[in-house]
Amino acid sequence: MTNELKDHVVLVTGGSRGIGLGIARAMADGGARVAVIGRNEERARSAADSLPGEGHGGFGCDVADPDQVKEAVPAVQDELGGVTVLVNNAGIARDNILLRLGDDDWDEVMAVNLKGAFNMTRAVTRAMMKRRDGVIINVSSVVGLTGNPGQSNYAASKAGLIGFTKSVARELASRNIRCNAIAPGYIETDMTGALDEKQTEALQERIPLGRLGTPEDIAGVARFLAGPAARYITGQVLTVDGGMVI
Ligand code: NAP
Repeated sequence: MTNELKDHVVLVTGGSRGIGLGIARAMADGGARVAVIGRNEERARSAADSLPGEGHGGFGCDVADPDQVKEAVPAVQDELGGVTVLVNNAGIARDNILLRLGDDDWDEVMAVNLKGAFNMTRAVTRAMMKRRDGVIINVSSVVGLTGNPGQSNYAASKAGLIGFTKSVARELASRNIRCNAIAPGYIETDMTGALDEKQTEALQERIPLGRLGTPEDIAGVARFLAGPAARYITGQVLTVDGGMVI
């Protein structure tokens, strides 16, 4: 593989585990310096230390809190340099059927999944606009396209992220900032938890490619979107789901 992301500073929210860690690793493999952000600072630091190459850093920050974001982004800039690629990957789920969904379940999911992406994007774009160069990648979900029973809060946040992606893409294209979304299908991580054999089989039957996804399946697409091969792609949603949604 080439070092196509050399000279880039990639900030990955939720980069300490799961899909985000896979994305952080792929970006580091591409030659980038990577800032890993998570609420748990120690875990973010040890994830950054585990990445290939040098010049990475881990930072504790709750993306839902605008004040923490306002402190974290300059800290990343001081330690690693200006952010050239932002990956809004941090996300949570608080699943329940509509009638049992509490106010907190709704508000927390929106605050992290949707407002978190807004907080981070607003914080990094001024410098990107000055440089007239930048890439933003938002990690949505196939349920933002299809809906899912028991996930009305989560699906709404992920659908919102798609509207956000398209608007930011239109607004910042003239400054050479590209903004795209990835909509993963079912990926094996802490969020999805361990499935028993029966559940795995039932899921696999719904996936034309016949297997659950891995963080690496998403990471390769994020690396592609960050790099020069995607220089003419903006405002798009790439569904990466083994064919679940065709
Ligand atoms: P995960 O294993 O639960 O990891 C979530 C990551 O986000 C962790 O690094 C966590 O670190 C961080 N995080 C959570 N809340 C945060 C906050 N408020 N501020 C900063 N960091 C925060 O999740 P995952 O499965 O890898 O999912 C990653 C993204 O992909 C999410 O947006 C998710 O909605 C999306 N997605 C996942 C799937 C799937 O099947 N797994 C499918 C479609 C979309 P801390 O706990 O230290 O904060």
